[in-house]
Amino acid sequence: MKLSRFVHTIPVDKDMVALYHSLNIKVIFVSRELINQIEGLNKLDAYSDKLYSAGMVVKSEDEDKNLLDKTIKSLMSLPSPVSVMYLLLTDACNLACDYCFIENQIPEEQSRIFMSTETAKKSIDFFAEAIKRHPDYFEKKKTIIFYGGEPLMNKKVFMEAIKYIAHLKEKGSLPKSLSINMVSNGLFFTSELADFIREKKVNVSISIDGEKIATNLHRRDFYGEPIFDRVMKKIKLLKSKDIPVGISCTINEETIKNQKSTIEFLINEIGVKGLGFNILARGHSIKLREDYETRAAEFIINAYKIFREKGIYEDRIMRKINSFSKQKIHPYDCAAGGGRQLVVAPDGQVGICHGYIGSRKHFVGTVFDNELIVEDTPTYKEWKKRSPITMEKCQSCVALGTCGGGCPCDAEISKGSIWELDERFCVHAKMTIDWIIRDLWLCIKAKAQKPVLV
Ligand code: SF4
Ligand code: SF4
Repeated sequence: MKLSRFVHTIPVDKDMVALYHSLNIKVIFVSRELINQIEGLNKLDAYSDKLYSAGMVVKSEDEDKNLLDKTIKSLMSLPSPVSVMYLLLTDACNLACDYCFIENQIPEEQSRIFMSTETAKKSIDFFAEAIKRHPDYFEKKKTIIFYGGEPLMNKKVFMEAIKYIAHLKEKGSLPKSLSINMVSNGLFFTSELADFIREKKVNVSISIDGEKIATNLHRRDFYGEPIFDRVMKKIKLLKSKDIPVGISCTINEETIKNQKSTIEFLINEIGVKGLGFNILARGHSIKLREDYETRAAEFIINAYKIFREKGIYEDRIMRKINSFSKQKIHPYDCAAGGGRQLVVAPDGQVGICHGYIGSRKHFVGTVFDNELIVEDTPTYKEWKKRSPITMEKCQSCVALGTCGGGCPCDAEISKGSIWELDERFCVHAKMTIDWIIRDLWLCIKAKAQKPVLV
């Protein structure tokens, strides 16, 4: 008997370690003394059955290989129903944020495009047709995300599109449960528009990177003017209409420096109930400290410790916690991974990820092509395979089962291929699983429950 190649030992206490199996996502806490003896497991009859049935020890390497092959086969045999559509109503924006991965990719001389009502409606039909191809998944979670540039720069088409979605839901062509989200910088909200989105149940996520100094650090308008005060006015407008405001918060050096007050601000001033943290990519003009990724990952964990007490949902860490607590592999960190995402550019071209809006790489056709089945294209087939589970360089990683593989687009931009690692998210994924396991141990100790094997 020997330890499985997927087992990682994580010290959790003076004389205790966790044995964590990164592929079946099981954890057993054992004494250090036991771990010292583990290679002579034939002497450990009292424990060996438990360790073996949890997959922690194997009789031969073949057992590990079979488990991996079986996991990959089952992942690849699952259908990939399209479940998310990003509708880029325009690639124009009223802001010029330093880190924008959309605007910074579009050559300055290239003119910006605004989607027409016809293209928006055609895109929604295209999405409805894609959903229909998988009737068993029709009622499963589906989302349309209005995105840009700034989607509200194309307000008329936004409103027309929302009405059209309601019409198709009524007809039964789109599932009644379909969610409508929008990501906006917030500055174009008016009282009338706020009433409209409340009536149509549009979920709004506004980009703000913390308090005034943090938000103004990289988020500026076209004239270089800071925007924090203007955005806060709009957030107050939405709150006055009882519209829950989601936040998309990119973690920068100021956000981290003012960690405590940033978290208090999000809770008390914004009244946030749900948010997502973004970690900056390297490679643009923003100077980041060498240990930025580590401190950003710590920031997310520290924020989560407070949010969980208050029932606030932070999407990035919750994906990992859900995977761990359900012992269910989290194979992809976004819907592009897995080939379940449509991105429609303002001119109607269809791709898998909005990160390529400038180059149109991984775009596969247009919404006007009634014959186009995106799942059958080589691009979607390749992205379906891109998961840590299938990537050799991930197989010895502690985060293998819970990671999702970060952002394939960032991996390609920084290293030339979607099959490379997105290293900023590697740091986050590894630190998060390490923390989850240590935290679980602290909870067990606090409840004075006897660990499985001591
Ligand atoms: S590949 Fe990256 S940029 Fe594209 S949808 Fe996924 S997370 Fe977003
Ligand atoms: S992407 Fe990075 S963190 Fe995730 S499994 Fe692979 S090596 Fe580990």
